[in-house]
Amino acid sequence: MLLTIEINGQQVSSKRGETILTVLNRIGVKVPTLCHLSNLSPTGACRMCVVEVEGLSHLVPACSHQVEEWMRIHTHSPRVLKARKTLVELLLANHPDDCLYCDRNGTCELQELSEELQVRERKYMSRNKPVQIDKACPSIQRDPAKCVLCMRCSRVCREIVGVSAIDAVGRGSHTRIGTSYNRGLNFNACVRCGQCIMVCPTGALTEKKSIQQVIEALSNPDLYPVVQFSPTVPAAIAEEFGLKSSKDILNLLRAALKKMGFRQSFDASMAADINIMEEAALFLDRLQKNTKLPLLTSCCPAWVRYIEVFRPEFATYLSPVKSPQQIMGTLIKQYITSSAGVKPGKVFVVSVTPCTAGKSEAESNGSETRLVDAVITIRELIRMIRLLGIDISNLDPEPADSAFSISSSSGRLFGISGGHLEGLIRSINFMSSGQELSPLKINDLRGLKPKKEAKVRINKQSVNVVAVSGLANAIGFIDEIANGRENIHIVEVMACLNGCINGGGQRTGTDEKCLKSRMKALYDIDEEEMVKVAHKNPVVNELFEKFLSGPNSQRNQEILHKTPLKTSAI
Ligand code: SF4
Ligand code: SF4
Repeated sequence: MLLTIEINGQQVSSKRGETILTVLNRIGVKVPTLCHLSNLSPTGACRMCVVEVEGLSHLVPACSHQVEEWMRIHTHSPRVLKARKTLVELLLANHPDDCLYCDRNGTCELQELSEELQVRERKYMSRNKPVQIDKACPSIQRDPAKCVLCMRCSRVCREIVGVSAIDAVGRGSHTRIGTSYNRGLNFNACVRCGQCIMVCPTGALTEKKSIQQVIEALSNPDLYPVVQFSPTVPAAIAEEFGLKSSKDILNLLRAALKKMGFRQSFDASMAADINIMEEAALFLDRLQKNTKLPLLTSCCPAWVRYIEVFRPEFATYLSPVKSPQQIMGTLIKQYITSSAGVKPGKVFVVSVTPCTAGKSEAESNGSETRLVDAVITIRELIRMIRLLGIDISNLDPEPADSAFSISSSSGRLFGISGGHLEGLIRSINFMSSGQELSPLKINDLRGLKPKKEAKVRINKQSVNVVAVSGLANAIGFIDEIANGRENIHIVEVMACLNGCINGGGQRTGTDEKCLKSRMKALYDIDEEEMVKVAHKNPVVNELFEKFLSGPNSQRNQEILHKTPLKTSAI
């Protein structure tokens, strides 16, 4: 039912049950908030969105207060502005004065708010004791001193990721964000997805940086530094540096990487094609033997960690094929650079990825057998481009310097939830029937829905596949299977909602518009690319002939399949 309220003197129609904040967002009135996120339950924790309602003696938080027809609301009255300023001053009482040294300097929401509200001095001093930074996890770093207790991280970890690795502990003024038994993030339920970093308004949660290690490798004359990048990296770089879609973004990225000092750059989508080929053969083998179904995909390291640590009864269903990052690392070290006369021990492989869990995945091999020597997130790459003074928009595009960067659009689709499955089905169909899937595009697996199901006819057999994103949704789906849901053949899981386009290593401030444009960039490639299927990638076929063997053969299993992650760290 519609009702009319007054906002800042303007008559506005709204629906009964809507919050004041929903109406304000709709009509383009911006009020600040440090705790609210539209896809998480409202808490009113930060009170920053308070507004004045005529007739009420107290200010009300717009995020959790519903509209009523008698309301006349003032969003920026002197009383409201004073209250917001005091709230920020109180938060700053507990906050270190180290903006210049902080990871989020320039992108911190608290910093932005204190500027907006003209906070110019420290008004209050707290007597809080210094707290230790949690640096033990290979992916995520936690600095509790910078926490403003907005609870975004604990809500995203519970509601979207589903593991509750961090939560509020203590009471009253002693409340803080903590881990179980106060142990480091490396010793608890954290799957290293980085979704908490994406929502944290301050520098309390960040990725563990590898920039220094990469810069040292780039300037070490004894090393041969090479880089691989994931399918979503070019679109994110274009967003950050305002590169027009008409520009040759992939080759501008290659030019920037070369300027940094990387001797060769590889598109990890080629390794995704190899992953598809292996997994397609593996699936057909399981289907024929009617065993270990549904096949659970394993290219998302956060999902693999969840299964191995929390649901080991499902580990046998996981695909043993390495992720594209690990396949590319293996090929670079064992074949590509050695065939160019470089000793594997000299090669330093850097991976650029939207995935914080990829850092932990790389470390799981141990220092002796590293396939990937350093993993940097997209955010870290952006910092490096600026740090090294590279003006990417003025570079000349650099074509691929190695045939190993040819990939099909199926490999590129790994960047979005449902994309891995779409490419996999194309190759499964071809391997099984000798015919191309027609049409190649599987509409039911496209878009930003967290769960997408499709029924595909493959060689006269109906194959049911499901793509789930957001680990909490995947946990729910796995429970359905455990409770008897049958006749599902393949389940693709990405721990981050919508997949790597929304990964924990993406640019902060990712919103629905960004997600749609990153998704479109990948689907456009699938429209335009000549090679749309992994089994038609000439480089992949040559690798299978010259270095590997037939898909899912003994030799390929030795090279391309992984040993289970060690799970003793829980
Ligand atoms: S760590 Fe960040 S997201 Fe979590 S409560 Fe603190 S400020 Fe909010
Ligand atoms: S990295 Fe993911 S699992 Fe770990 S605390 Fe953050 S949101 Fe939770």
